[in-house]
Amino acid sequence: MELYRMNIDEARSAVIRGEISPVELAGSVFERIEAVEGEIGSYVSVRKDLALSQARQAEDAIRAGDTRALPGIPIAVKDNICTRGVKTTCSSRILENFIPPYESTVTQRLAEQGYVLAGKTNLDEFAMGSSTENSFFGRTKNPWDPGRVPGGSSGGSAAAVAADECIAAVGSDTGGSIRQPAAFCGVVGLKPTYGRVSRYGLVAFASSLDQIGPITKTVKDSAILMNVISGHDPLDSTSAAVDTPDFTSVLGRDIKGMKLGVPREYFIEGLDREVAAAVNEAVKKLETLGAVPVEISLPHTEYAVATYYILATSEASSNLARYDGVKYGLRVDGDDLTDMYMKTRDEGFGDEVKRRIILGTYALSSGYYEAYYRKAQQVRTLIRRDFEKAFEEVDMVVTPTTPTPAFRAGEKTADPLQMYLSDIFTISVNLAGVPAISIPCGFTSAGLPVGLQIIGRHFDEESIFRVAYAYEQATSWHRMRPGLPE
Ligand code: GLN
Repeated sequence: MELYRMNIDEARSAVIRGEISPVELAGSVFERIEAVEGEIGSYVSVRKDLALSQARQAEDAIRAGDTRALPGIPIAVKDNICTRGVKTTCSSRILENFIPPYESTVTQRLAEQGYVLAGKTNLDEFAMGSSTENSFFGRTKNPWDPGRVPGGSSGGSAAAVAADECIAAVGSDTGGSIRQPAAFCGVVGLKPTYGRVSRYGLVAFASSLDQIGPITKTVKDSAILMNVISGHDPLDSTSAAVDTPDFTSVLGRDIKGMKLGVPREYFIEGLDREVAAAVNEAVKKLETLGAVPVEISLPHTEYAVATYYILATSEASSNLARYDGVKYGLRVDGDDLTDMYMKTRDEGFGDEVKRRIILGTYALSSGYYEAYYRKAQQVRTLIRRDFEKAFEEVDMVVTPTTPTPAFRAGEKTADPLQMYLSDIFTISVNLAGVPAISIPCGFTSAGLPVGLQIIGRHFDEESIFRVAYAYEQATSWHRMRPGLPE
């Protein structure tokens, strides 16, 4: 097997046993990047020099008996997660040359476990989008069909994992940005419970919703990365003071008697026939493994997209006020201060980011606040209660991750509402703050991957991993790889 095809678990064992060296592993991943990056465009920047020096350090550590979690493992990082001394652009012109003076907690923890930074991956500008077409640096392509989108906003991370341009990746998820691209690219993506993973150093989009999480080739790798990146962080006031269990310890436990809620509001008109069929088959498979499907209702589901687009845009309009040409990034000079602000923001932000700032500023403005922002907060509570009620009856909820498989590039760019609707099944999870994973559960007749979403109770990623792993072990979807040149 080519080394770049390995997952974390395989690569770590091989490195620790001395069968391969971290420098060989990184070399293989960079050969792969050179071979396919022209076709896929997963990365905004790759720092081979830095990666090779990290790999050499890992090699020395291995010789000295290192047994850390990620000894020399090349991991790709979404380019809205700050890496000290390494450009972090958010795929925006306004941060085109921004080099953070500090390290995010997540990359700090990855580094403490010996990782190699494979590169910084492409995203929709400031994580606003569902297709990775809203990037200042150009679109990322879906490795299964380059004419289609990889999903977004963590499309670069998901494509890099699917195309074996890294061993694993991290992304961020505000309304589906880890799970939706994972589904479109046929890989595993987890949005942890709000508060489980520190956001220190994640460039803020909508602070009451944003979470960082892993995008991996297998469920076990997802658990391995969660062991590394989870945990309380005094640098993030929203990070929860809860213990981090060993997420890998539940893998392999049977799922007999676990109750799976299947919400009828997720099997609606507009759901692609082949996606529905794959998800129904997956539920049947879980039933043969001992789980018990139960039909449930999440009655406020239909309000989720509208609620999200009030709250997320309001928070974005506030968070993005800091890009004023004074403190960070691009400055375009003007006749006076106001003119400078206006020119900087006009030239620095792309259309979707501007659309969101305008929507959010409107929703927050005096006279409209009660009708929009406050109302949306109230509906958010109802959506959270839907889940609380469901979890009195079931252990987890299973749904399709997306209503359709990967759509064609350009198909939805002219119609923002259509684009927003592609997150219809992922957004409620962020509004409720609960954790959810997307795992591969089949392919359409055109050979496009389909994702199964498994949603758990607050801080119960363990049950998610248990069910996801049981399903993965009983199926072979996760072993499928897109046919890219070697
Ligand atoms: N696609 C959604 C949006 O455009 C979610 C993005 C995300 O999760 N960062 O806002």
